[in-house]
Amino acid sequence: MSRGRVAAGALELLTKARTLGAEAVEAVCFGPEARDAVPECGWYGATTVHVSTDPAFGELLPSGPAADTLATLVADRRPDLILFTATHGGRDVAGRLAAKLEVPVIANGLDIEATDGISVTSSIFGATQLVRTAFGARRPALVLLRPRSFDAKPAPVSNAPLVVTVPPVITESHRRARVVARAPDVAAGPELEDARVVVSGGRGLREARNFELLQEVAGLLHGAVGASRAAVDAGWVPYALQVGQTGKTVRPTVYIACGISGAMQHTVGMKGAQHIVAINRDPHAPIFKIADLGIVGDALTILPQLAAELRSRAG
Ligand SMILES: Cc1cc2nc3c(=O)[nH]c(=O)nc-3n(C[C@H](O)[C@H](O)[C@H](O)COP(=O)(O)OP(=O)(O)OC[C@H]3O[C@@H](n4cnc5c(N)ncnc54)[C@H](O)[C@@H]3O)c2cc1C
Repeated sequence: MSRGRVAAGALELLTKARTLGAEAVEAVCFGPEARDAVPECGWYGATTVHVSTDPAFGELLPSGPAADTLATLVADRRPDLILFTATHGGRDVAGRLAAKLEVPVIANGLDIEATDGISVTSSIFGATQLVRTAFGARRPALVLLRPRSFDAKPAPVSNAPLVVTVPPVITESHRRARVVARAPDVAAGPELEDARVVVSGGRGLREARNFELLQEVAGLLHGAVGASRAAVDAGWVPYALQVGQTGKTVRPTVYIACGISGAMQHTVGMKGAQHIVAINRDPHAPIFKIADLGIVGDALTILPQLAAELRSRAG
């Protein structure tokens, strides 16, 4: 759950899972608010939702109890495939579960197929190559898929899912660490990964304060600001804004790349955008090869003009 809703990544996985020809697609929700997630899981195709609302999932570091509880569920349900979102939490749980069950896990997946066995496409060597890896016969197959690898779409037909309460596995070792405080990130606009418009800046913005131009344009478009790794490495913006192979994957309606060259490690995180606009003063910049609209010019001149135009239209 995120901000009271099922995390978008989980809905993307349910959408993809429906296409894999499985007998049943089931969801697992652990946490004090787990029952709130049930209807949405059903809309996206889960026929059964395994739930534990034990308060320990909110009080302790949740990955240990989640992995151990999942292990008992696996013994009971014997699934062929378990999908996780490649988030910090997803990686933590998948890694623990893989070790516990002594099965392999494929991380950083971009796509999955289950027509002839189960195989996963992921990027390697700094996103310069794609590789497809097939699982052997051992089950369950564990796969971590990058957020925004698929569009989340509700199932054409959905019924209320069967809800099964799972006994949680909470051990003394899990109780050795507990959460003492939470500091939610109070961003003014939408989260980068959920934003319908993303305005990203790269090295071409030259210095940190020029990101204020991006903030203004993003604000006027009700969008979020992103960045290339060069801008993050320069310390102009926090790592949380990085788009790309080692940052976030975004699939907005519109992605505006400003002063970004279009290195493959960046584009792998944004090429799923429906419309790509690039502003770059180099007409040969690779970003123009994937842009729907290319503007050759100085971003530091064009962005204030764009902001002024948007302000005038906003009235
Ligand atoms: C393992 C690995 C992982 C990586 N992961 C990521 C990742 O997750 N995300 C990521 O972004 N990168 C990643 N990189 C780095 C990536 O290879 C590039 O180095 C990086 O994306 C370049 O950032 P940039 O486009 O901002 O800078 P540059 O490549 O330096 O491009 C700057 C661009 O700005 C243009 N420009 C300059 N001034 C202006 C101006 N005033 N107005 C308009 N245009 C202007 C230039 O023409 C140029 O095209 C990774 C690299 C490796 C090896």
